[in-house]
Amino acid sequence: MSKFITPLYNSLKEYVPGEQPQDKKYIKLNTNESPFPPSPVVIECVNSEAVKNLKLYSDPESKVLKEELAKAYDVLKENVFVSNGSDEILNFAFMAYAREQGVAFSDITYGFYKVFAELYNVQTKIIPLKEDFTIDYKDYINLNKMIVIANPNAPTGISLKLNEIEEIIKSNPQNVVVIDEAYVDFGGTSALNLINKYDNLLIVRTYSKSRSMAGARLGYAFGNKEIIADLEKIKYSTNPYNVNRLTQIAGIASLMDNEYYENNCNDIMINRESTVKELKKLGFFVLPSDANFIFVKHPDIQGEDLYLKLKDKGILIRHFTQERIKDFNRITIGTLEEMHSLILAIKEILEEI
Ligand code: PMP
Repeated sequence: MSKFITPLYNSLKEYVPGEQPQDKKYIKLNTNESPFPPSPVVIECVNSEAVKNLKLYSDPESKVLKEELAKAYDVLKENVFVSNGSDEILNFAFMAYAREQGVAFSDITYGFYKVFAELYNVQTKIIPLKEDFTIDYKDYINLNKMIVIANPNAPTGISLKLNEIEEIIKSNPQNVVVIDEAYVDFGGTSALNLINKYDNLLIVRTYSKSRSMAGARLGYAFGNKEIIADLEKIKYSTNPYNVNRLTQIAGIASLMDNEYYENNCNDIMINRESTVKELKKLGFFVLPSDANFIFVKHPDIQGEDLYLKLKDKGILIRHFTQERIKDFNRITIGTLEEMHSLILAIKEILEEI
């Protein structure tokens, strides 16, 4: 770091993304991407004509993409925001709502929340999950702070009930409650219907997981139109062309083929259940998951050890060093073949120890 950096950033611990190694081809079960390519409709629409038009800036309003999202999710265009990945929406929300009021989130959740809180020097209340890694919604009543909840949560995969989310939203009317629904399409329940009932709800979604577009960087959000206007203001004050031309086209095309994505999500849920069964047979403890990943530990092998041994065999999973979860690993659900390879590799490892 140089001597010129703003002192606040000296101690900032930046977000460390999951590995994206380029040295060889791994079975990648470490960053919750989809194992399936985007729909053929997307591949057809992002064509050479679209590439030629890259000479022009993208539509800063992302008008057509927002209209199509509004249609697909049965809301008004004014209730929709789009962004360069959903991380950008989280960033904007922290900028807009956490600096004065502070923020609350759980001890085991998406690691970026803590980074944003540090980045903006925000007063932070970290609320431990219960022993079984579920949220006690009563911990979030009348907090008088911005609240961020991933639902389903990451890296646990556990969902919070909709009526409990509603209690949290209702009891914090002076604060924005962000529900991060990155993984909702794999069996979770969305809070989308509540955006017209509560003006303090922001729902954050992404194309990175269920819509197979992690590399395109496209996030979207739903909320009351004043909340969306806040996010637009921050967008126009930081990066007006935040969603590039090819990504806007891909995002629109994706919505024309919902059946393809629904089938993929179903396949992933089926593969999840069969993988859980196999892992349990091998002695693993597996948390219940509504996401495209599972959080697992085994009594005979440490989390880091299993991660390293699988990496040696060409399979990447995600290990976290945080004390409370260091015995666990998070495994993204891939294709049936990938999950067969995983189980085989784990059997070999368990036999060797
Ligand atoms: N929220 C959660 C809970 C996540 O796990 C992720 C993926 N790392 C994101 C948001 C961000 O996803 P993206 O920026 O790719 O939309």
